[in-house]
Amino acid sequence: MTEVAKPVQETTTTTTENVASVDATNPSLLPQRSTVSKGKYSLNDFQIMRTLGTGSFGRVHLVRSVHNGRYYAIKVLKKEQVVRMKQIEHTNDERRMLKLVEHPFLIRMWGTFQDSRNLFMVMDYIEGGELFSLLRKSQRFPNPVAKFYAAEVTLALEYLHYHNIIYRDLKPENILLDRNGHIKITDFGFAKEVESVTWTLCGTPDYIAPEVIATKPYNKSVDWWSLGILIFEMLAGYTPFYDTTPMKTYEKILQGKVIYPPFFHPDVVDLLSKLITSDLTRRIGNLQSGSRDIKSHPWFSEVVWEKLLNKDIETPYEPPITAGVGDTSLFDQYPEERFDYGIHSEDPYEKYFVDF
Ligand code: AMP
Repeated sequence: MTEVAKPVQETTTTTTENVASVDATNPSLLPQRSTVSKGKYSLNDFQIMRTLGTGSFGRVHLVRSVHNGRYYAIKVLKKEQVVRMKQIEHTNDERRMLKLVEHPFLIRMWGTFQDSRNLFMVMDYIEGGELFSLLRKSQRFPNPVAKFYAAEVTLALEYLHYHNIIYRDLKPENILLDRNGHIKITDFGFAKEVESVTWTLCGTPDYIAPEVIATKPYNKSVDWWSLGILIFEMLAGYTPFYDTTPMKTYEKILQGKVIYPPFFHPDVVDLLSKLITSDLTRRIGNLQSGSRDIKSHPWFSEVVWEKLLNKDIETPYEPPITAGVGDTSLFDQYPEERFDYGIHSEDPYEKYFVDF
């Protein structure tokens, strides 16, 4: 069993309220906050270790707290790159969303800090690697395995949508497995709090809904479309609109023709045809009963949702974590580079990231 630290969101001052939510019998379970800068973390609180993954604006490191010896993951974003790629708002949204959410299948963020050149987000380290790696290794998942992961994802999306958050980047690369084999959705770089509709074109080509490509106003149901693509990919081993260039993929998405492999169960074909539909008045999840329609679909009939939420259901795969806490064997190797972390000098981007 992993030792699980109790949820405490980062605050600049410690209030009695969040002290009360801490396991008072074992305060060492909490990552310590540096007293240097207003109760926030700083780079000195962590020993930086290997790279776990890379994104467009930086990388994610395994780190070890110098205070409690525990491992965490720190996402580092280069300010210059964030600004150059016009991602200031998305990055601030990512921080805000991660601070808000608290759910068994969503990554937890403990806090953020910055230096002159980089932004840092401290998260739980999830040791089991990406669902993507498991899927590529397995080629495709048997029906019950795909159903298990799809059901956990459904609960996570339902929670986000209940809080008016659209996730917008569902794909197997953003789904990590914890050491027991439950999912944790990571990367809130495109997550956004939206009351009704929004317009920004973002996501990953194979997973984008047609209304996003067509730059129409769109709502939460883009995530249900992506759930359909995810289920298809888990069962088939490839995405339904795959093509050699994003442009060709977009054309196929707009045409909307899906060819279901003959080995797909009729129930899943029925569910997928209702998720992967461009007609928003027919897309399941977007109808009057919302996510309840998905959860009560025949393909999910064996799922006991309350048990699943309590992680009271055996997982189909336990990641082979052998080296104990801090094992990174399930992550790919990335070339390490010299880091410019911890420099405090003039910062031309200071005004953009005041919340970090
Ligand atoms: P991101 O830029 O957030 O998509 O992260 C890039 C990659 O880093 C992910 O696809 C994972 O492989 C890895 N990663 C991100 N967050 C974590 C985490 N909390 N624990 C372990 N690995 C992570």
